Order: sequence, then C-alpha cells, then structure tokens
Amino acid sequence: MDDRWAPARDVIRRACAQALALLLPVACAGCGLQGVALCAPCRALLAPRPEAHSIGSLVVWSGLSFEGPCARTVRALKQAGRTDVATALAPALRAAVRAAVAGAEPPVVAVAVPTSRTAMRRRGYRVPELLARRAGVRTMRLLAPARATSDQRVLGREERARNVAGSMRARAEAAGLAVVLVDDVVTTGATLEEARRALEREGAHVIGAAVVAATPLRDRPRTAARRHR
Ligand SMILES: [Zn+2]
Repeated sequence: MDDRWAPARDVIRRACAQALALLLPVACAGCGLQGVALCAPCRALLAPRPEAHSIGSLVVWSGLSFEGPCARTVRALKQAGRTDVATALAPALRAAVRAAVAGAEPPVVAVAVPTSRTAMRRRGYRVPELLARRAGVRTMRLLAPARATSDQRVLGREERARNVAGSMRARAEAAGLAVVLVDDVVTTGATLEEARRALEREGAHVIGAAVVAATPLRDRPRTAARRHR
C-alpha cells in the first residue's frame, strides 16, 4: 500500500480528534457520566494502592489494578487523546515509583519505556513520559525504539515476548546507572523485560519497575492471542 500520506493523515486525524474533543460535551473518562471530565467516585477509585508483582526476574510495582474505571481512564488517555486525565493518574505512578526505589541506594534514575514511532505519530505524545512528568518523576531518555513492533494488545504471552525482542536500544550513558523503569500498564511484562535487557546490555543495573496499573492475573494473556478488554 502506498503509505506516503500516512504522516499527513495522522496529523489531520489528530487535529480532528482534538477539535471534536473541544466541541463534544465532556464525559467522565472512567464511567461516561456527562458534564464532568472525571467524576468524584471515579477519581476516588484512582487513589493509589501500591502492589508488588514478580514478573520474570523483575519486581514491578503498580499503583492501581487495571480494571473498571481505572482501565477506562488509562484507555481514554492512550486511545482517545484525553491528556487531561494524566494528572488524576499521576499519584498512582508516583506511589509505585516511591515503592520501587524504597530501600535502594541512591541515586536511582527513572527511565520511561520508549514510545514507538507509530504510536508517537498517532497520539502526538509519549504516555509514560507524560505520566511521569505529571507525577513529578524526572525521567532520563536512555531508551529508544530500535525497530517497529506490532500492537501488543492483540498478542498472547509468547508472541508478545517475540514481538518486542530487540525492539529497543539503550544509550551508552546508561552504563553504571541504577534504574527504575517507568511505564503506564504492565500486562505480561514482556516490554519491561526487554527494556531491562537493553539497559543491562549497556551496563545499567535495573532495580525494578513502576507502572500506573497492572492487569489482574485473570486478564493476562496466556499462550493464545486474545484481545485486551
Ligand atoms: Zn466517573
């Protein structure tokens, strides 16, 4: 397919989505209630409840469970251009980062999982970096996408690992640094493990990871591909 016009189409689509967002009446990102960007009950559900998950050899701290209004709010940010809700999700990431670095010998630097070029073109912003900024967590851009990957949401566990293998490279400045990885959502942990491999290849030491929300165990893909709900 001739994809010469893809960047222009993305710009136009994004501009239209932003214009529509201004014209349409606002609705709660968590439950759809009209007339409010995020209603009080949904906002209350976003209060951090840090939890540790052992994923591969990584300890991943999440601030929330990726379900119900929390999942819908994260999706609104990732898929519907609702950057306004990043501030409401930020405390969960802040709490997760605090838990992840607790007890570690400082200094520890935070490194966000990189955003693919396709996602960047589609959204116009980097979700993990935006969340970190709103959470007051300074990140160092030590990882970059090395090649294109497929959308992880439609893949099973093994396919996810294969899909991201070799998909990131770390900068040489990572050598000798203690790192906590930062991302929006953890599902199988394949992306975080790949980020760790890339950083450790350059001589960094990844002490753990922090995410806004973790997919509950029952919703994590096993071997077969399935859709993310
Ligand atoms: Zn609501």
